[in-house]
Amino acid sequence: MTARPSGLEDASVEQIMRVAIDVPLRRLFDYLPPPGVSPARLGAGLRVCVPFGRGVRVGVVMQTGPAGEETHSAPRRARSLLDETPLWPAALLSVIEWAAAYYHHPIGEVVAAALPPSLRRAAELRPAMPAAYRVTDAGRASIAPLQRRAPRQAALLQVFLAHDGVLTRDALLAEGRAVRASLKTMVGHGLIEPADRDAVAPEYARDAPPSLSEPQAAAVVPVTRRLFEFGTFLLNGVTGSGKTEVYLRVVEAVLAARRQALVLVPEIGLTAQTVRRFQARFGARVVLMHSGLGDAQRLLAYEKMRTGAADIGIGTRSSVWVPLARPGIIIVDEEHDQSYKQQEGFRYSARDVAVMRARHESIPVVLGSATPSLESQHNADAGRYTCLHLPVRAGPASLPALKIIDVRTSALRSGMSEFVLTAISETVNRGEQALVFLNRRGYAPTLFCDACGGVAMCKRCDARMTCHARDRRLQCHHCGAQRPTPAACEQCGAAELLPLGQGTERVAELLEARFGGARVVRIDRDTTRRRGALEAALQAAHSGRASILIGTQMLAKGHHFPGVSLVAVLNADAQLFSVDLRATERLAQLLVQVAGRAGRADKPGTVLIQTRLPEHWLFRALRHQGYAQMSRAMLKERESADLPPFCALALVRAEAATAETPWQFLQRVAGTIAVEKDRVSAREVEVFGPLPAPLVRRAGHFRWQLMLQSRQRPALHRLLDAVILQIEAWPEARRVRWSLDVDPAELC
Ligand code: ADP
Ligand code: ZN
Repeated sequence: MTARPSGLEDASVEQIMRVAIDVPLRRLFDYLPPPGVSPARLGAGLRVCVPFGRGVRVGVVMQTGPAGEETHSAPRRARSLLDETPLWPAALLSVIEWAAAYYHHPIGEVVAAALPPSLRRAAELRPAMPAAYRVTDAGRASIAPLQRRAPRQAALLQVFLAHDGVLTRDALLAEGRAVRASLKTMVGHGLIEPADRDAVAPEYARDAPPSLSEPQAAAVVPVTRRLFEFGTFLLNGVTGSGKTEVYLRVVEAVLAARRQALVLVPEIGLTAQTVRRFQARFGARVVLMHSGLGDAQRLLAYEKMRTGAADIGIGTRSSVWVPLARPGIIIVDEEHDQSYKQQEGFRYSARDVAVMRARHESIPVVLGSATPSLESQHNADAGRYTCLHLPVRAGPASLPALKIIDVRTSALRSGMSEFVLTAISETVNRGEQALVFLNRRGYAPTLFCDACGGVAMCKRCDARMTCHARDRRLQCHHCGAQRPTPAACEQCGAAELLPLGQGTERVAELLEARFGGARVVRIDRDTTRRRGALEAALQAAHSGRASILIGTQMLAKGHHFPGVSLVAVLNADAQLFSVDLRATERLAQLLVQVAGRAGRADKPGTVLIQTRLPEHWLFRALRHQGYAQMSRAMLKERESADLPPFCALALVRAEAATAETPWQFLQRVAGTIAVEKDRVSAREVEVFGPLPAPLVRRAGHFRWQLMLQSRQRPALHRLLDAVILQIEAWPEARRVRWSLDVDPAELC
């Protein structure tokens, strides 16, 4: 169905709209246009209020056209049109449609995920205002005559004159609520006129750019030379090599071409340094977009990017959907980061959507990392991505030396060998900082009864409770359940309970006892939950007040701690035993990233890794080779095991409160797949399962999964297309919680 020129309409055939509504159904819903709205005003990308069931919903028009054979027999009439102009340019609309098809996800939920929260409701989009205004000659001449007739306008004109005649929209709106109406009138009377933000005297660009190193310059040029066409660049630069400076230069070129840049970062709090550097270079042209903002602020940022009032949007995963008035480039920083993959509901990868979006909008996309994902490396190897290398650290800094500490025979104290403790104390005595990394928060991962051998378990998961000492509670890290730490064993009643193993809280306790509490800062989810706590901790780390930083992977992300010269990794082994398909890749990335925190500009750093598996190839590779070689080795492993990126994977997950229900459901899915395989000639797709999830029972639900694997991606998608609508319609699909995960990040 396509839109027809309105003049040709046959009066007897009513126009209908096909609308995406936020419900878990893979279909659009037909509606007649709202009363009094002429068909010429309809179009894809407009929000509408529609009756749905017994309520009213906000939906987005995806198609319009004359009612056809496929039209529902008696479509209802929409209530009202919420937007004057479509939310998305055609290119972004087609990316949204692509995503719904590729992830086989209900279109209404995809559309909802692509909107800021307030637009999912009936919030009104104000018509866009220009970025800035300039006073005209007529305006200058009118101040005196307006004093009595329109004092508010006269006062505003005075404000203009006090600022060289030009003001940004934001500065004006700060003058008060009534300003918006006055501006409109004044533009109407020719007293002021819309102006470009560039006309405003710059209060930014205070940060003078350094001169680029040779590899940096060599990385910038290929991108800036092809600014107006699609191309994917993999910026592979070791930690501290100056990737951010490359982004800044590329963005500068994009802005010079009067286009906008979208910069994706894993987590705003953890990438504050990167954000600050963009702000220092580009000032008010930058807007931030993340879930920590209130709905109104989020909408404002969205609108600034959509209307072109701001030039650079920096945001987390969901920002990949923000429309751009003048698309110029998309940058995905730390492209390997797991946070780009949504793990519930609509399970998209923002990195992959970014690449598809750049293709649809004919712009370049830069994926940057010191530890590229195997997927991206594979794409670069295949020539689909252009590789850009920054092989050395920027300035005088060099990469740290690495030592593997065999702890099979050492006595450990709170998980630390004497060697590590000595190294920390030497570092601190030299006035430098040490970073201790342990990927487990809490005090101890197990509460053990010395009398009966029992272990405190979660009542709703097949998992142990973690001891948290400070609030004297047991916590389940899978479902969040909590209870006070018992004084006696819950099974036998003996009072011989022992916390076994270590978490960051316990290690911090020992370090505090040894080095003094004031010098130790712990950074993990528990210590940073309070607003501003993370910033305070990072501040203590940066100012040098804290000599020892102990924390989880939060410490591994993006931060540059110039004073840190020693990094100690306490328990790297746990992940080597994980069943997850990406465990080795994640560990390699994590170790390289943590190691990258060591070594300030003028002093070489040291990295110590404690392990009981000193012979493991990963540790040897880490010591003698770079991430590039590790990545080669891991890709070989994946190829021989027939795993992504050498095949495509999809996971059908199901869970329910009773043990057999999800198994029965997936059994039926497997049966349907077997039938359809022949029909859609997708015989090469292999199906495994139903298999229990690695953690079968979580939060009281039993979890099973069915894995689909194929070397032929199109065959896999054909098969999913053939079965997904059938499954959706089954009554038993309503008795389980089920979901489809295309390109799953983890198999749990
Ligand atoms: P990455 O993002 O690759 O880890 P950064 O961009 O954070 O690296 O750069 C690391 C440090 O090197 C920063 O302090 C940065 O200011 C500095 N730096 C980057 N490029 C240059 C350069 N061309 N000359 C001097 N210092 C630089
Ligand atoms: Zn639990």
